[in-house]
Amino acid sequence: MQVSQRISNLTGGGSDGWDVFYRARKMIAAGVDVTELTIGEHDVRTDPSILAAMDASAVGGHTGYAMVPGIAALREAVSERVKVRTGVATGPENVLITPGGQAGLFAAHHAVCDEGDVALYCDPYYATYPGTLRGVGAVARTVATLPEDGFQPTYEAIVAQAEGAVSILVNSPNNPTGVVYDRGTVEGIARACIDRDLWCISDEVYDTQVWEGEHLSPRQIEGMAERTLVVGSMSKSHAMTGSRVGWVVGPEAVIDHMINLATHTTYGVPGFVQDAAVFALGEGAPLEEKVSAPFRRRREIAKRLVERQNLVQMVRSGGAMYLMLDMRATGLSGEAFANRLLDAHHIAVMPGESFGQAAAGHVRVAMTVDDAAFEAALGTVLDFASEVTG
Ligand code: PMP
Repeated sequence: MQVSQRISNLTGGGSDGWDVFYRARKMIAAGVDVTELTIGEHDVRTDPSILAAMDASAVGGHTGYAMVPGIAALREAVSERVKVRTGVATGPENVLITPGGQAGLFAAHHAVCDEGDVALYCDPYYATYPGTLRGVGAVARTVATLPEDGFQPTYEAIVAQAEGAVSILVNSPNNPTGVVYDRGTVEGIARACIDRDLWCISDEVYDTQVWEGEHLSPRQIEGMAERTLVVGSMSKSHAMTGSRVGWVVGPEAVIDHMINLATHTTYGVPGFVQDAAVFALGEGAPLEEKVSAPFRRRREIAKRLVERQNLVQMVRSGGAMYLMLDMRATGLSGEAFANRLLDAHHIAVMPGESFGQAAAGHVRVAMTVDDAAFEAALGTVLDFASEVTG
């Protein structure tokens, strides 16, 4: 029996630079003590107060089918949060609750791309992006963001790739680079979308993790609310990665179509998880700051360590739980460096090549171990860079 072309082509095939990650996982399973600075998983788990709210809801009986678009209280809480943070008029009718940001990315592209349409995404990119676009039948095409532009997508780069495109996926604060788009970049994205009649799908799952600069959504730029779908999530802001709750915010008519999609795919998000999310959002900024504080601290540690040497440069970044280190002065590819580091010191980082071509020669470091372990590991990474350079 044959499976569909669509599913067999989902991952694109070939080496994707994730070998280091899987090798580290194998070493851990074999009992090796590996410092994992690979994926975006908080070292501090979901706050006990959120779990208490989830427990009370589940024990209280909210375990049946929940409303497919999301429970009213959560759609209301998300729309209120978006309105307060961005100043853009937003109501519950503009919100679809999804099982995490990933499902939101899929639903948003499903809503705007027809089979064979070109969907743009920026390189370097979060690993699932090309597969998500191919998964809805779109042709995934990259817009390179370059180290010399600070990994910010430019108007010119978008327009140069826009022939036949219907959408562009942007992501700030960015995974993998940690870069926060500046106002000029966001305005350039908006201008390209308007000039070339593109949907803008804006992945803002790291919007509470901004250390320098400010988070500006393309939806805030004039003329963009009607062509922007914002993807959000409780995963990163509230350390709720396993709870699978996120959202898409956009024009009501598009949200209505996405509700139909949800009815025929996910059938919604568990009610007790949504109640926990309502509780968590109700706690406001103090809880978000508590969750994000470790990454702010570790970034300062990293800046201090990197400043002490001049071989490895840290990409100028302002957010998210990652750092991107430019290893090109070592003469090694990101992949070669990461493999040698894993063998020599049992420290796992992600090669830039796992995130596309534009981040070749870099490695991404997730700041997801406690401060002391992070400082020690990063110190070793920098010493090792100097050692392999000879
Ligand atoms: N977008 C980006 C940029 C991410 O890094 C992630 C998770 N690592 C997601 C979306 C999806 O997150 P979730 O489905 O857990 O909300």
